[in-house]
Order: sequence, then C-alpha cells, then structure tokens
Amino acid sequence: MKQFDPASNIQDLLQFGEFGDVNPSITDSATYTFMEAKTMVDTFQGEEEGCFLYSRHWNPSNKYLADALAAMEGTESAWVTASGMGAITTTILQLCDAGDHVVSSITTYGGTFAFLSNYLRKFNIEVSFVDITRLDEVEKAIRPNTKMVYTESLTNPLLQLSDIPKLSEITGKHNIKLVVDNTFTPMIMAPARMGADIVLYSLTKFVNGKNDCVAGAICASEEFVKAISDVNTGSAMLLGPILDPLRSSGIHKNLHTLHLRMKKHSDNAMFLAEKFASAGLRVIYPGLSKHPQHQLMKVFMHPDYGFGGMIAIDLKTSKKASALMEKMQQEGVGYLAVSLGYFKTLFSNSGKSTSSEVPENVQKEMGLSEGLIRFSVGLDHDIERTWQKIYTCLRETRVI
Ligand code: PLP
Repeated sequence: MKQFDPASNIQDLLQFGEFGDVNPSITDSATYTFMEAKTMVDTFQGEEEGCFLYSRHWNPSNKYLADALAAMEGTESAWVTASGMGAITTTILQLCDAGDHVVSSITTYGGTFAFLSNYLRKFNIEVSFVDITRLDEVEKAIRPNTKMVYTESLTNPLLQLSDIPKLSEITGKHNIKLVVDNTFTPMIMAPARMGADIVLYSLTKFVNGKNDCVAGAICASEEFVKAISDVNTGSAMLLGPILDPLRSSGIHKNLHTLHLRMKKHSDNAMFLAEKFASAGLRVIYPGLSKHPQHQLMKVFMHPDYGFGGMIAIDLKTSKKASALMEKMQQEGVGYLAVSLGYFKTLFSNSGKSTSSEVPENVQKEMGLSEGLIRFSVGLDHDIERTWQKIYTCLRETRVI
C-alpha cells in the first residue's frame, strides 16, 4: 500500500489569496455582507454552502488552516479552535449528553484529565479511566450509555502508545466514537487513517512550533464538523472557542515546515534518549527497543518522521528533578517550562506541573514517578554539544 504522505498532501493544496498573494489573505472581519437577503436566510438554515455569515461560525482564514489540517490527517474536514482544550471540550460536549459515559485513558494531559474527572460531573457524565494499553480493560469498561473512548496516540507524559486499530475495532463493535489526541505525534501518526473517528490537536505545540500562541484543531468527518458548527445545536458555534484569524494565518505558514521540524525533533530526541540510557538512567522513549511498544510504534509510525520529540527520564524524587532542571536552564540546555514542540528544549517535572491535576495516589497507580522529567527536545543544530551540557549537569547535580 502506498504510504500516506501528510507533507505532500499539504504541499499539493493550492491556497492563495484573493489577489494571487502566495499566502492566503487574512480575513479581518467579524461579519460578512450578503447581496440578497434570501441568501442570508438560506445560510442560517444551512441550505447555502460556501457563504460566510459570522466569524464565530466560519472565517476564511480559519478555513484555509482547517483545510490544510484535514489534508494532513486525511479527514474529510476540520475545524480550528482557540486552544487545544477548546478542541477537546467542544468535541466531548458535542458527543455526550447529560447522563452519558466516557471511557478514557488514565494517562492524558492533566487539563484533559481535570475536565473529564471534575468538570463533566456538572452534566452527570461519568468517566471510567483505564490503562489504554489493556484492551480487555477498555472493552470491559464500556456501558450501554458510553459514547466514546478517549485517548492520546502517545500519552502525556508516560509515552504509552494507543493501539488505535484495535481500539477502533472495539468502538466500531459498540457503535461509539474513538477520539484521539495526536498532539505529540503530528505527521508521525495519522490516527484517522488507523480508525479514529475524531483527531484532536493542541496546535500550540509541534504544529505551530513557535510558542507564540495557543490554538487547537478538530479533524473529523464533514458530518461532525457540520454538527459542531450548527447554529442551533453546535458546541463550537454556541460555546465560541474560535481561533483568531491572524493567529490561524501564522500557524498555517508554520504548518508548511512541520515535516522538517518533526524529523529534526525526532533525530535529536533519539540521540538524547540513547545517551540517557547509556548513562544508566531510566528513560521512556518509544524509539528505544526496550520501550514495551517499540515494535508496535514501528508499525504505526511514518518512517520519515521518527519516534517523536518527547522523552521522559525518571530521577525518582522531585527534589533531584528540580535540581537538574534548574542546572540545565543555567547551562543553556533549554528552558524550565511547560508545553512542548518548541524549537528550544523544554523540560518540566510532570507530576508537579502538567499532570498536577491528577491526584498523587492516582499518579502512583498509573506509574507516574514524582521524579519524572518530561523533555520536549528542540531543534538544536549540534545535539552532541547539548548532550555534553546535559552530562555536565547530571554530574554536578549528582544524578550520575
Ligand atoms: N493535549 C495535549 C496532549 C497537551 O499536552 C495539551 C497541553 O499541554 C493540550 C492538549 C491542551 O492544549 P492547549 O494548551 O493548547 O489548550
């Protein structure tokens, strides 16, 4: 079978501005004129395609970015949001009614975990958290009122791989949706091609890659995108998490270099993961043969883009983790900061930051050590030089 090629799919799009400008024009308008009143009525009733009525509904700049993301994912359609959480909450609230039930991976981004475990209670929506690598557990958790299985392709921060084809067999059998957050692995994995119904992104991370804004995306069927943008019942239209067109135009330009950046992030991460392992540290990285799902990842990934830019190392205690992170920042390895997918290396202690929403006993249960440092490896030109700096920091903080 011909390899699905997200970068060429983006490249093949002809998206230019109204005056032939090579970058699509930025639509700086909240509302749009209609030449005939009837067209306005028909547009509101969903009977007129191709007209813009109001920028909370659709904006041409957002449409260019959404079309490019749909091409990248191989989905019929897409929608862009003001944050990754905007994409996640819009999707879940569209799929679930009060009294419904969700099955979710227990390892997810902390904000997602908090939304699922704390916020959905307001609607009497129950969530069962499972180890997503245990397919028997996933299937057992499904109830008659379950609407979706939620997971991340490579989970945050433990880098567990979701077996999307097998999960989609389960969701298909029960006629429920499989929703996959692919924030960690754009281009590396194409969840919709593997059976996911809806693919979510925090564009804030690798896709934009510049750490200058927050944004998100929902890649899905035309039917689902129509449903979320419906003027009467759509969660996107009615809750309004809309991306600013100026930002979407910036992200759209950055998307065109994503394939180059992902390859470099992965090459650098692979190099550092091997060095951490050879220094005797406990490392989690799907590119290492000792990662329990290394072989499966090789089957799922696009070979051109590597195993991704995220690594976790376990120093056992948060005190040791803090000392190392502070030293690495002083030595110019990167920044002690949350988030990921930036051109500089970022590191944070997950249990005390991006997963701090997960109660400590649950962190222990899921195997999240208090000394876990999550690295988002940057685009360093000379990664050997970076390793030398890290090595010095490891020695000076007595980690090794
Ligand atoms: N999904 C994942 C995997 C994340 O790591 C994050 C943020 O860290 C989000 C979603 C939320 O994205 P945003 O911060 O853009 O709302």
